[in-house]
Amino acid sequence: MKIAINGMGIAGPALAYWLHRFGHEPTLIERAPGPRPGGYLVDCWGLGYDQVEKIGILPELLELGYHVQEVQWVNAAGKLSAKFNPEILRHMADDRFVTIERGDLAMALYRKIEGKVEMIFGDSIATIDEKEDRVDVTFDQAPPRSFDLVVGADGLHSRVRELTFGPMAPFEKYLGMRVAAVEVDGYRPRDELTFISHTEPGRQVSRFSKREDKTLFLLGIREPRVGPGVPHTEDEKREELKRGFAGMGWESPQILESLDHMNHIYYDVVSQIHMERWTRGRVALIGDAAACLSLLAGEGTGMGMLEAYVLAGELALAGNDYPTAFRRYEERLQPLIKTKQKNALKFAPSFLPQGRLAILVRNVITRILPARAVARIALMTLKDDFVSPEYEKQLNL
Ligand SMILES: Cc1cc2nc3c(=O)[nH]c(=O)nc-3n(C[C@H](O)[C@H](O)[C@H](O)COP(=O)(O)OP(=O)(O)OC[C@H]3O[C@@H](n4cnc5c(N)ncnc54)[C@H](O)[C@@H]3O)c2cc1C
Repeated sequence: MKIAINGMGIAGPALAYWLHRFGHEPTLIERAPGPRPGGYLVDCWGLGYDQVEKIGILPELLELGYHVQEVQWVNAAGKLSAKFNPEILRHMADDRFVTIERGDLAMALYRKIEGKVEMIFGDSIATIDEKEDRVDVTFDQAPPRSFDLVVGADGLHSRVRELTFGPMAPFEKYLGMRVAAVEVDGYRPRDELTFISHTEPGRQVSRFSKREDKTLFLLGIREPRVGPGVPHTEDEKREELKRGFAGMGWESPQILESLDHMNHIYYDVVSQIHMERWTRGRVALIGDAAACLSLLAGEGTGMGMLEAYVLAGELALAGNDYPTAFRRYEERLQPLIKTKQKNALKFAPSFLPQGRLAILVRNVITRILPARAVARIALMTLKDDFVSPEYEKQLNL
């Protein structure tokens, strides 16, 4: 089948990889002018780790990944308040745990399909018109084309979802916070392999020193209002962030100042997407477009890749009977994803504590509980009750 995939983040290229491997003809369409390296860090473990291993990019990611040695919280004066050694998490995940730049994962996936799969950059699906035997698609730039199926892998604010299921609002569970991620060159001080955060009620500023003299800043802020969304231009984002984080201690003034030299600021709401169905007619959704877990789950990329694998695998098993494949795709994964979304919500209070007392409690707990106990609690909450299918075996590949 000819299958258009809108969005080439993580889920999109993973789907293209598997569809191509199982004998279909995918076309990827990405709004950005090309694949983008760098970006915020993502942890990869559990089912997501299994996926990168299956796709064959694990050795590359292990080489590019960071083995974070310490997570620290400091007070307004920069004095250590609490710390946590994530080594223990890795150990409890049987060492199947790696922290990578999101862009490195995207680039590794891109390299697996480069030259094998059609890719259109700087464009987007604009309209979808489903017929009995095909889907007619128009683009913002390219001339119209027809496909057998269309997949939306275009993230939290998916256009394919909007075109097929309507506006985002009924599906969005806004978690009352916003997050910004920015990468700067030459920031000082540096603390290798250490993730440092300073928290004040409802606000948190963090930094992580990356290779090539780059530093990643992560800024999280509570915003109870559902409506306003985040601004779109870089200038407006800068202004809003400076307003929102004004008066914070530690290195915050210096970090805010460095935003002036940045021309790409990731800034978005922290939301989940909850949908009863991920497919309609000849259109399917995967990744954040279908079921965003939010950064609180730490598994959005892994689940996006798993969804890609299951959708492609079920399509391969069902032949051209896409309605059956779509139904199986949903049945197999929806219970798992719902559980992950629920678990992610449990982390919301500790991610951005709302009051001074809550910050104190978090720091005290982190200090007095042995790291092994903290890791066990984290992994127990996050452990999977899911056995991944093995489509390559079922298809004799
Ligand atoms: C700060 C932060 C930290 C995170 N930490 C982790 C973590 O530790 N572990 C983890 O697994 N996950 C983490 N996540 C979540 C993870 O990044 C996402 O779940 C994952 O990237 C989703 O992949 P996706 O391919 O569905 O969507 P995306 O990665 O959002 O990709 C969507 C793609 O579609 C493109 N696009 C959008 N609109 C259009 C359009 N109209 N037409 C064409 N293309 C379009 C975009 O440019 C983008 O390339 C984190 C997220 C954030 C924000």
